[in-house]
Amino acid sequence: MSIFTKIITGELPSYKVAEDKDFIAFLDINPNAKGHTLVVPKKEENKIFDLSEEAYSKLMRFSYRVAKALEETISCKRIGMSVIGLEVPHVHVHLVPTNVMSDMQFTHKVSLTHDEFISLSKKIASNFK
Ligand code: AMP
Repeated sequence: MSIFTKIITGELPSYKVAEDKDFIAFLDINPNAKGHTLVVPKKEENKIFDLSEEAYSKLMRFSYRVAKALEETISCKRIGMSVIGLEVPHVHVHLVPTNVMSDMQFTHKVSLTHDEFISLSKKIASNFK
């Protein structure tokens, strides 16, 4: 069982920003930039291109809605998107509010306090439509 499935089942906590029956989105715990969010299908699958075309399209549609909420909440030049999965083998889309190229480099990290994560996740969730 992946660490993200444990978040989905509630065994582990997360700073959730959006959820429906098929997907969950929560803040990355080690963000590249403020608002860095992961969008995750609830059905555990390792690699994104192992998804069916339909599941892939649904993931992109849900990610689109989360990206819109991020744009509403966080001042940035654009939302960067990336899929890696070398650390957690459960499909997830990284959405990163981006101002400079280093925001999309996964060696460039920012730190937030627990309270900052909570208030940020609530703000993003309130802008999710
Ligand atoms: P990758 O699998 O290479 O796409 O990276 C996995 C991402 O998941 C990294 O950016 C981690 O910071 C993030 N991550 C790992 N565990 C958690 C967690 N419990 N909650 C939120 N984000 C996590």
